[in-house]
Amino acid sequence: MALPGTPNKAGCLTPAARVVALATAAALVLSSAPASPPLHAQSAPSTPPGLPVIRDAEIEQLLRDYTQPLLRAAGLAKQNVKVVILNERGFNAFVMDGRHIFVNSGALFEAKTPNEVIGVLAHEIGHLAGGHLARLREQLATAQTASIIAMLAGIGAMVAASRSSQIGGNPAAAILAPQETIKRTLLSYVRAQEDAADHAGVKLLNATGQSTRGMYDTFKRLGDEMLFQSRYIDPYVQSHPLPTDRVAALEVLAKQSPYWDKKDSPELQMRHDLMRAKLAGFLDRGETVARRYPANDQGLPARYARAIAAYRHTDLRNAVAQIDGLIAAQPNNPYFYELKGQALIEGGRPAEAVAPLRRAVQSAPQPALIKILLAQALLASNQNSEEAVGMLQSAIAVEPEAPDAYTQLAMAYGKKGDVAQADLASAQAAFVRGDLRTARQLAARAKTRLPIGSPAWVRADDLATVKAPAGAKSN
Ligand SMILES: [Zn+2]
Repeated sequence: MALPGTPNKAGCLTPAARVVALATAAALVLSSAPASPPLHAQSAPSTPPGLPVIRDAEIEQLLRDYTQPLLRAAGLAKQNVKVVILNERGFNAFVMDGRHIFVNSGALFEAKTPNEVIGVLAHEIGHLAGGHLARLREQLATAQTASIIAMLAGIGAMVAASRSSQIGGNPAAAILAPQETIKRTLLSYVRAQEDAADHAGVKLLNATGQSTRGMYDTFKRLGDEMLFQSRYIDPYVQSHPLPTDRVAALEVLAKQSPYWDKKDSPELQMRHDLMRAKLAGFLDRGETVARRYPANDQGLPARYARAIAAYRHTDLRNAVAQIDGLIAAQPNNPYFYELKGQALIEGGRPAEAVAPLRRAVQSAPQPALIKILLAQALLASNQNSEEAVGMLQSAIAVEPEAPDAYTQLAMAYGKKGDVAQADLASAQAAFVRGDLRTARQLAARAKTRLPIGSPAWVRADDLATVKAPAGAKSN
């Protein structure tokens, strides 16, 4: 797992990254996404910079397996919608553009069953399918214009009042009143969208033969929290208002489902429990892990959480023994091999990490992130840097925004003595981290050493003149 924050500890840490800064042993990658890829790369909008993104092959695969059937049922299978995991504690999930669904690690951890997460994802996909974001933006734009008119009207009224010498009027109230009206209009609009997303979500769950219970239970719980806990409200409730009547309407709708009582398969429940254990192992303090997953719990998830906690607290020998136990229990689970490799790399034994990471790359459905680790192990143990280059290039083809991949690629080229390619890779690493100045400088230097007009030269040329895209800061 790669968490936001660690490699550049000196850099700006987001609040969540601060929480994680204690996880020094973990392979943490500041995944705050880049401004935008250069011209030659895909021009798809990336996740906004500064978000504390967690990258993890296992959890991302699980979330893909949760979302794919729903996206297909919604007719969005071809939109390349990705679920992005944020390292935030509160329960939250939201959509910001047409391509990303953001889910807090807190929500994943709090959800006891796959069906609860799937229910929340169904609601979010309901927003996507309804094109709610685009419509809300239109409404906001209209509201802004309307609010200016309203302000002017308010001032007009105020002026009129003062001219007619009606002493005692409240000018501020005259200005605020129309804005209040606009706010109410917008709020009712948002509520209509929430109802629509609930309906769409239930429809998607029914279409895919999944229970509506997790969605209802989750929204009911969050709604109750909102009513009874004024101290802390999960951010979800703020972005998706949950008034009692909405929850009541959802209850009627959800209980009509023929799949209401359907349970998640034991295999899926196990993957879900392993995900929660992994999040706890990486994100929680050692004592918290020991309390949640006490030593007498011999279930696989508890052993997973304890093994991760052991390696994070630098007890490498003990951790490796525990991970070997996990591998013995599930010899075909790629992520146990990945964990072993990650622990060995970070424990300063990269040569021993190569074999388990190869095994993980072979058996994981989408191993791009694990390939980056394997390349790191190859390079750190002075093994085949040619193989590392190939490994990284194939990883970058799938993950064009992973800064670690370019950093390792620069090292691989450096070991081969290819200074120009090393500079170009370093320039790309700087670019995806959002450091455009360094990216331009390194790319300009790379350009002088590359054959003019070659593909690498063209990439360097793009980067040497790259500018922050207009509006990059505004969304
Ligand atoms: Zn919503």
